[in-house]
Amino acid sequence: MNYNKKSVKDVDVRGKRVLLRCDFNVPIDKQTGEITSDKRIVASLPTIRYLLDNGASVIACSHMGKPKGEWVPGLSMRPVAEHLSMLLGKPVVFAADVAGEDSRKKAEALGAGEIMLIENVRFEKGEIENDAEFAKKLASLGEIFVSDAFGSVHRAHASTVGVSGFLPAYAGFLLEKELNALGGVLENPKHPFVAILGGAKVSDKIGVITNLIDKADTIIVGGGMAYTFMKAMGLNIGTSLLEADKVELAKDTMQKALDKGVMFLLPVDFAVGDRFAPDCEKKIVDSTMIPDGWMGMDIGDKTVNLFKEAIKNAGTIVWNGPMGVFEFPEFARGTQEIARAMAESNAVTIVGGGDSSAAVEQMGYSGKMSHISTGGGASLKFLEGKELPGVACLLDK
Ligand code: AMP
Repeated sequence: MNYNKKSVKDVDVRGKRVLLRCDFNVPIDKQTGEITSDKRIVASLPTIRYLLDNGASVIACSHMGKPKGEWVPGLSMRPVAEHLSMLLGKPVVFAADVAGEDSRKKAEALGAGEIMLIENVRFEKGEIENDAEFAKKLASLGEIFVSDAFGSVHRAHASTVGVSGFLPAYAGFLLEKELNALGGVLENPKHPFVAILGGAKVSDKIGVITNLIDKADTIIVGGGMAYTFMKAMGLNIGTSLLEADKVELAKDTMQKALDKGVMFLLPVDFAVGDRFAPDCEKKIVDSTMIPDGWMGMDIGDKTVNLFKEAIKNAGTIVWNGPMGVFEFPEFARGTQEIARAMAESNAVTIVGGGDSSAAVEQMGYSGKMSHISTGGGASLKFLEGKELPGVACLLDK
């Protein structure tokens, strides 16, 4: 895939109406209606400020949640408009429809350096169907399209792809940063390249492992998905997470790594619990000794040291997915130690996925990583080597 896309800096935006696709899919407290984390809004500010400072009028749009083409009041973008206005220190006009009369009138009245936000694009069925009529209507609000919603570029929707059929399409700064960081890892990683994968499911990450076997020097597998690999090696895994239909795939994957000379590291010990609960009884056992009736919930200290050794010598590290049930404090240590080792390393460090990013943030290590991806699903698709439709549709440099 070509990651070398034209950005907002490659076009004169002065006096132009810019349709800007953001990722304002922020969590909202159902009771109070308040935004509980404005991280995604803050992440879009550099592009918005650049456009406004350079004399564009900005028509911003985004999805929130999954309203499935229905008008769901709890998923209105109105609170985002208010919050954005507070962050920018200037009014944000709100249009109460999606590319309807209100949007059209307000877009036409918008002056240079002014910004408006339209209603949740997913309130219209045409959005996720990438309906050409709807895309055309949405595109007609602007003269240029700028995509800055990295979290949504793996989906071919009207506001991420369809509008590019009607407008010249450019990348915003946030998207450009993601393309540079993740593209750099795939195209020209500094070796040794270590990929660390965790989280619940083999099926979510197997595409990444398969793609990275051709590029990485070491692949580390931890978290709930590790037990399917342990099972594939004929080990007893007690009541640990298992995807029985993926055992053969796990075996093949390990064989492939062996054939290619890629180091494939699995945990050598585990913190196990007698039930899936934060206050369960806990003990540390070697990975060959998981007792019947016990469940693997985190990697043990020997494993932490083994993984740290690989991290210490790495030139590039990509991490996606926690090493254990890090939501339970008793089983957060493995994930925290990986975050710490990455923060202390001199390698290019890339973190993707909501849980690993949350762990890094909780520990105050965000500033110590080279890049924390803002898109969980999109970053996985990227690392799988798949084409991202919302990137492919942008103008090439
Ligand atoms: P994912 O969304 O695939 O990255 O998975 C994240 C989830 O995996 C988190 O909620 C973790 O609690 C869970 N997880 C990690 N390790 C384990 C484990 N050993 N057993 C059960 N769940 C786990």
